[in-house]
Amino acid sequence: MRIGPHANNLPDEQKLLIYIETVRPPLAKFLLGGFNRKVLDACKANGVATVLRVYTDDQALLRSALGGVRRKTKPAISVRAAAPFIDTVTALAAEHGFTYVEGYNEVYQTGSELVRYAEFDIALMKQAEQRGVKAMIGSFSTGNPPDSWAGYVPALRYAGQQGHVIGLHEYSAPVMQYGVGENQWRGGAYTLSDPVTDPQALGWWTLRYRRARAEWQTLGVNPLPNIAITESGIDDIQPRPGGTPGRGWRTTLGTEWEYKAPFGSWADQMRWYAWQLTQDPYVIGAVSFGWGALDPAWMNFRDDVDEGLLKVFMAAQLTLPRDSVNPQPQPSGFFAELKKAIPNVVDLTGSLPRHQTLRYATRSLAQINEISGHHTTGPTTYTPQQCAVQHVEVNGWPGIGYTFWIDRAGILYCCNDITTVSYHVGTTALPGDENLPAIGLAYPGDYRKGHDTPTPEQRATTARLVPWLNTYLGKTLLLRGHRDVAGGTECPGENLMALITELNQQISPPPANLETLRNAAWNALYPAGGIAYVPGHALPKFAKEQKLGLPTTGEFTQGPWTAQGFRDGIVYAVTGKWDDLKVLGWF
Ligand SMILES: [Zn+2]
Repeated sequence: MRIGPHANNLPDEQKLLIYIETVRPPLAKFLLGGFNRKVLDACKANGVATVLRVYTDDQALLRSALGGVRRKTKPAISVRAAAPFIDTVTALAAEHGFTYVEGYNEVYQTGSELVRYAEFDIALMKQAEQRGVKAMIGSFSTGNPPDSWAGYVPALRYAGQQGHVIGLHEYSAPVMQYGVGENQWRGGAYTLSDPVTDPQALGWWTLRYRRARAEWQTLGVNPLPNIAITESGIDDIQPRPGGTPGRGWRTTLGTEWEYKAPFGSWADQMRWYAWQLTQDPYVIGAVSFGWGALDPAWMNFRDDVDEGLLKVFMAAQLTLPRDSVNPQPQPSGFFAELKKAIPNVVDLTGSLPRHQTLRYATRSLAQINEISGHHTTGPTTYTPQQCAVQHVEVNGWPGIGYTFWIDRAGILYCCNDITTVSYHVGTTALPGDENLPAIGLAYPGDYRKGHDTPTPEQRATTARLVPWLNTYLGKTLLLRGHRDVAGGTECPGENLMALITELNQQISPPPANLETLRNAAWNALYPAGGIAYVPGHALPKFAKEQKLGLPTTGEFTQGPWTAQGFRDGIVYAVTGKWDDLKVLGWF
């Protein structure tokens, strides 16, 4: 799972847009001054869910709690007293098109306070529903509630039933791994050496959400609500090892904690945290506190101030799957169906070597759109087993990179489920993203010009596999070579590219048919009669070049002119003078 921004304000719109469009985290959180239309549009275009927090006077409670001065009496909350606040925040969230809206922040977190806080959050959820928004309730600070969740159960139950989400904050210090696994405080002494590679490790600060969820289950909450980490980072956790740092990861810069083996840098630690979150499908998103700052005390939390460190942080996130691993197994009966079409098929999906802990992300069948052809280079006798060892032990990947493998005898090997997003066409710019829609099809050997050429058996199996996949998935997959997706590689070589081109010509209808299709589409534009489309005709050709969009009228004459309206303008010329076309605005 990739970590999103917690935008407190908007000091640099461009930087935030780059982060959102490059990292594409599942969730981004905004305070009122932290977004504008452009930022929210970018989130929408990139499938980033958004959560709004309206910073209010209630923040004063947060300050007193963090300052260690616990007020004897807190103002009694009642739904009635909170009604104007709930009304304001849900209206704002709906107006700006947010996915989620938050309520209060880091307050009413213990004992009987939780009972009244649950009432508040239920009122928030109900009001949010009326406005077509989901609520992100709770917003509990690290380590809270400190003892029992019992008082808050009604809110958990309602959230689980109605699809709202519990927001939890998780900070640790001086590294994100403190309090997790073996990294514990033990009566004045501490251990801080466990890299915590256990994908279900429990923590007291970070990864505490796993303990919380287990308790909800014990308390009979069913269905369990999803969780989002709505703040995270390094904060002033006590007790903890080391005199430095203070609040915020930037306090580690220039100290021994800036890079601490075996945890690495801030970016490394956040990557570890994000990797842990990836293991739990019920975690729908997480954000790092610290894009911009409203308060000088927040400056050391900021991820966005140092361009170089930000790039390292982004690169670390990009090596992870975007979302939590939500296992999508091979559809049942897949192999049996395939064997009917291609008898010489061998299923290796359960038996190839794979990584001890790392797992590939999965996808739905609807997300598959293309097949990428690869050659392995090296000898033609290379096997899927040897390749799996290479990819796991040398490359450090979760398993073999390819989905299918066709050997020289034309035997087809299934190496991964087709729902597995394995690595074969990733680039350093967007690792993982190119792999999501692509099935990897490998041929052992070196298929560059002057080297190996596909055998008749390999050609025959390929010619059966591709149309079978198209039929099975109910769509025409884009069939291309690795080098068509990612630059800087010759893979799969000229000789396999020739086979790919040949198959594409067999599968795709000739261009003339597509012209017929386009013509039919124009005719179908409007119920009454459509708009006749003349291929290559000057007016639509010119409109296409000028990117004027779809036609809104048919062709017509007016005095000396011939003209046609398009979405973004009227194309016209003196009749017959087709080399002197002009555009007239609608207004
Ligand atoms: Zn390749």
